[in-house]
Amino acid sequence: MRSVSVPTPVLLAIDSLEWASYEAYLVGGGLRDSLLGMKVEDYDLTTDATPDEMKRVFAGYRFYETGIAHGTLQVIIEGMPLEITTYRSDGIYIDHRHPQEVQFSKSLEEDLARRDFTVNAMAYHPKKGLIDLYQGMEDLKNKCLRSVGDPGQRFHEDALRILRALRLAAKLDFTIEETTSAALTKECHLLDHIANERILKELLGLLRGTAAQRVLNDYMSVLACVIPEIDVQDAPLLAEALSRMDNASYPRLAALFHRIPQELLRSLTRRLRIDKRTAAKVEAVLEGFHETLPTTLPDIRRFTGKYREVLWDIIDLKEATGAPDHLREFREEVQGILERREALSLDELAVDGEDLLQEGIRNGPEIGVVLDKLLDLVYEDPMKNTRWTLLEHARKITESGS
Ligand code: ATP
Ligand code: MG
Repeated sequence: MRSVSVPTPVLLAIDSLEWASYEAYLVGGGLRDSLLGMKVEDYDLTTDATPDEMKRVFAGYRFYETGIAHGTLQVIIEGMPLEITTYRSDGIYIDHRHPQEVQFSKSLEEDLARRDFTVNAMAYHPKKGLIDLYQGMEDLKNKCLRSVGDPGQRFHEDALRILRALRLAAKLDFTIEETTSAALTKECHLLDHIANERILKELLGLLRGTAAQRVLNDYMSVLACVIPEIDVQDAPLLAEALSRMDNASYPRLAALFHRIPQELLRSLTRRLRIDKRTAAKVEAVLEGFHETLPTTLPDIRRFTGKYREVLWDIIDLKEATGAPDHLREFREEVQGILERREALSLDELAVDGEDLLQEGIRNGPEIGVVLDKLLDLVYEDPMKNTRWTLLEHARKITESGS
């Protein structure tokens, strides 16, 4: 296990708080990931200073108060954003998500006790060293996620922890300790209380995690609590497909959703609050995936033009789910089409609507119809994509009135 490398801004923050006679420690995912030798995404600190006291200590720095109701001040030190939170003891939880009220505390022990998993419940001080009240280091070595305290109770308090467990297991390639695992499987119905935005955030973290395949395989029944459209029987298939897709949000979502009937897809992406751009891409991948791959060159050009933005994701998904016989030929044809830079959309034609107007073709829907026909012509024979040939063809089309 690595020693903790604490960056200068974190040291400065701890020093500043201690100068004003408060306590401060590095905690949370930043400490965990640093001990694992992983890239640290954000540093969390904890202190006995109240939010108002923190604001006084960091008066000389830029800070943001967005999390202040929960005791968190985001302070920017030497360009690094640090989340500094007052010690909390969360007391009674309501609605399976929120503590009844945020209670600030003067005790580090209380603050660590409210944290979700042992590997997230350690604290580190550059001079005092590691404070590890729940054998977090042992679990870190064994790559194991274990609830702090009674898992059933902890998931009842805040059901988001169920998805945090899956997301962290996938991200860190950890297993989930047996009683913690049993409790989260048993209590997955509590996820009904969690806002879709929060579900989506954890879901995407899970899908993009290095051990996503294993976690999906083992915990599909938990995911099916939030996405009942998924058939749990499909777990191995979905997990395998996912592992072969590009590691971005939309290909991974497409893999997870690829067995869901098309007509349910739109309401699912809306319900999960997937942003419009991502949802459109997921839908495009799956629409293309459900089409039979064309075999003739003009049809391959048409398909490539229609799905250009997500074409390789469609191919990946076809491949990941039992490639059709001619997938290799299809892939080679597509590569050739792209290398030869053949026209695949209206704006790549050698003429545009303006040119047609000048040729005396009336404005309005007719122009669009003629352009579509010209594109069809070019799909048949890319050599015809010259201004002269297309204008001549456009004239013929309008003269014949067809
Ligand atoms: P990462 O930042 O890599 O997503 P993290 O564990 O740091 O993971 P954060 O949301 O940044 O996650 O939370 C920081 C710390 O706050 C956690 O490590 C954990 O100690 C505590 N924590 C966060 N969410 C919860 C929760 N729902 N219940 C209990 N403790 C939590
Ligand atoms: Mg964090």
